[in-house]
Amino acid sequence: MAFKAPRGTRDMLPLESDKWNFVERKFRELCYNYNFAEIRTPVFEETELFVRSAGEESDVVKKEMYIFKDRGGRELALRPEGTAGVVRAYLEHSLHNNAQPVKLFYYGPMFRYDRPQAGRQRQFYQMGIEIFGTKDPASDVEVIKFTADFFSKLGFKDLKLHINSVGCPECRPLFQKDLEEFARTKISLLCGDCRKRALNNPLRLLDCKNDSCREVMKDSSPINAYLCSSCGTHFEDVLKLLKALNISFYVDSGLVRGLDYYTNTAFEFLSCQLGSQNALGGGGRYDNLVEHCGGPQVPGVGMAVGVERILLALEKEELFPVKDQPEGVFLAVESTDLWEERFNLLYLLRDNDFRVETDYLNRSLKAQMKFANRNSFRFVIIMGVEDKSKGIVKLRDMVNGEQVELSFEKIPAFLRKKIE
Ligand SMILES: [Zn+2]
Ligand SMILES: [Zn+2]
Repeated sequence: MAFKAPRGTRDMLPLESDKWNFVERKFRELCYNYNFAEIRTPVFEETELFVRSAGEESDVVKKEMYIFKDRGGRELALRPEGTAGVVRAYLEHSLHNNAQPVKLFYYGPMFRYDRPQAGRQRQFYQMGIEIFGTKDPASDVEVIKFTADFFSKLGFKDLKLHINSVGCPECRPLFQKDLEEFARTKISLLCGDCRKRALNNPLRLLDCKNDSCREVMKDSSPINAYLCSSCGTHFEDVLKLLKALNISFYVDSGLVRGLDYYTNTAFEFLSCQLGSQNALGGGGRYDNLVEHCGGPQVPGVGMAVGVERILLALEKEELFPVKDQPEGVFLAVESTDLWEERFNLLYLLRDNDFRVETDYLNRSLKAQMKFANRNSFRFVIIMGVEDKSKGIVKLRDMVNGEQVELSFEKIPAFLRKKIE
């Protein structure tokens, strides 16, 4: 019997972990610069939280959630996205009573029962930021600028920012009504899902992945024409600030994002490299989400990016840093009689913050050298039986072949100088 990772999940082997760490490091550095603090929430929550936040009619809730009952009969769901849990924690710990805005970031696995494909797994990783407690258009722009900076730090060059306003509960109903009426006149041209959407949730008609539906819906009147004055002003202010920051954008009236909780700003960064699955990440404003989840009226804005998608795009654009130069120290020993001396040197170097490895398979010196070479160690220290009496070892720089003889205590300083 051979076990395999469940469909839609994958293992992350060491070489790949390096790439993940690269992306994670860039994200954390930027969060630090922008003063976002980390929050970690559970991977499962009450199912009802996601039904409330994402909306009963959303694809996420209807088709994609991992739902289960625990042994105590609680209705639970693996989190399909990060924001709902963060909102729940914000309320549970009364962070709305703290000085506002509260700026948080998260990173972790999310779960959606979706058809696995390149860059889309059932267990996938998301990084996101949230700003609670301000309606200022500058905070929308802060989130967008953060996202742009993050992508540029990773090395992306030609990403496109698509932006839209999805209005508010005051101005959206009329738009939805017209959209619904429009869809009715075209109902025979729409896919089965969209026919249902036309009745239950017309806004979702705009993010059907079906090309023929997209083509039909392109002729519906855009939401921009329906925005109330406060939504209109907010959107204009956001665009004005983006221009001031020299961030180019495209107003995409079809962009409504897959979740019901967005208000006003919705945005996405698109890569031309990923074909049809080209959204690398995005976000928007959600001024009613906190209230909707049982809290006070607290506005919010945030974004999330999928790590698998980013890695795929980085790979396609060959943006990973070239595999590191040789580094670290391999301690090769002529005889197993020398374990005591070997340990002394091994831990002396590790205590001095060097990365050090040695042989545990009683290999010959020659085989040990080969191992060190193959594993890209920069230095090899050779401890011979004869050298033991003299209290010295040989140290070879594998990059240029230079070899010196040194006593134990001189090695750390010597290596440090070499590495500089
Ligand atoms: Zn409005
Ligand atoms: Zn459709």
